[in-house]
Amino acid sequence: MASGLKGIKTVRDLEVTGKVVFLRLDLNVPLENGKISDETRITASLPTIKYLMDNGAKIVMCSHLGRPKTEADREFSMEPVAKRLSELLSAEVILWEDIASDGIKALLQNLRKTQLLLLENVRFNPGETKDSEELATVWAGYSDVYVNDAFGASHRAHASIHALPNIMKNKGIGFLIEKEINMLDSLLDNPKRPYLAVLGGAKVSDKIAVIEKLLDIVDGFVIGGAMAYTFLKAKGHAVGKSLVEGEKLNYARQMVERIEARNKTLLLPVDHVVTTSISDTKSAHTTNDMNIADNELGVDIGPKTIKAYSTALHEAATVFWNGPMGVFETAEFSKGTFAIAKALAENSGNKIVGGGDSAAAAEASGYADKMTHISTGGGASLEYLQGDRLPGLEILRTKIRN
Ligand code: ADP
Ligand code: MG
Repeated sequence: MASGLKGIKTVRDLEVTGKVVFLRLDLNVPLENGKISDETRITASLPTIKYLMDNGAKIVMCSHLGRPKTEADREFSMEPVAKRLSELLSAEVILWEDIASDGIKALLQNLRKTQLLLLENVRFNPGETKDSEELATVWAGYSDVYVNDAFGASHRAHASIHALPNIMKNKGIGFLIEKEINMLDSLLDNPKRPYLAVLGGAKVSDKIAVIEKLLDIVDGFVIGGAMAYTFLKAKGHAVGKSLVEGEKLNYARQMVERIEARNKTLLLPVDHVVTTSISDTKSAHTTNDMNIADNELGVDIGPKTIKAYSTALHEAATVFWNGPMGVFETAEFSKGTFAIAKALAENSGNKIVGGGDSAAAAEASGYADKMTHISTGGGASLEYLQGDRLPGLEILRTKIRN
């Protein structure tokens, strides 16, 4: 089945000594008042950077940061990232402002071992999101080797992800992407059983493609978050004012039937934390059963559900978790989500977390280091799992003819 890395070289396979390596990273870290609030993506990029340094490459790093509209959006400058990288690498990181010029050539010629280049936010140039060949040609003009280690951006056909490797001969992936793909493949190829998918989050519609893909692979689904209410309503329960996708009720109904027809497990909440509005933490309380009063909405799974889900998760050998069980950003509604993280922490099997908010929830729970893998690529990990081809990976694959 999924052999996601077939035909793709890794940095280990590339000749990099003395060569200029254009290294596309995902250094898109969250900033609060100009300070990096979570440096996971920077630290996750270090192994490939260090490998290239140790092997004597001249490194030009490149990343996007946020969604700048123009170059004048200085709040999206890579400057804080350059500073942090230079601390972590004990090296000088030179920020190159002029993304679309090859004036960098002279600098590269005299680059010292303890110096690296970082291009300014690649999205300052409109050519990036347009997959501009012109922009790619400038970069290719001074690069010998192309390495993509930006998993979180590999589902986008942008110039630094797609147009550039399209015209480069020597190309491959870094260690971060290699690990991501191997981890995600472990959810698709001969997973250890029992295998449960824990799905939550805001919408059923966001997750349909993943549900479809996993339906024939997993042994069961554990459903929480707002999407649980669409399922509960489809089964005829009272869900009050809870977030329900009316146009997905039929799908949910069929889904229940298809899961049952395959003799698979489907766990839905048996009780809830409810309140009168998401901003109202004072009137929050727990229901006795799965029904919700007309004037209330569900914001988290309840204690009986936590118990049942934890028991099921303790017994699983493989777990894929995407989507929080409740509005975990509010402390009062975070218990269910954090309990899932705890149950996974107590399980010694293969536990993989995908999705941007889910990764944040795993971090906030304090159990992040107990997971087998937390994907750094929110959307990219879901797209890969559901079977979509990622443009940033496909362009690096040598076509194998039979
Ligand atoms: P991910 O980014 O991991 O794929 P999603 O984006 O699908 O996850 O879902 C995350 C969001 O779902 C969170 O912002 C959370 O507040 C919201 N959410 C979870 N449960 C509920 C609920 N019962 N009602 C409203 N929103 C919810
Ligand atoms: Mg999200």
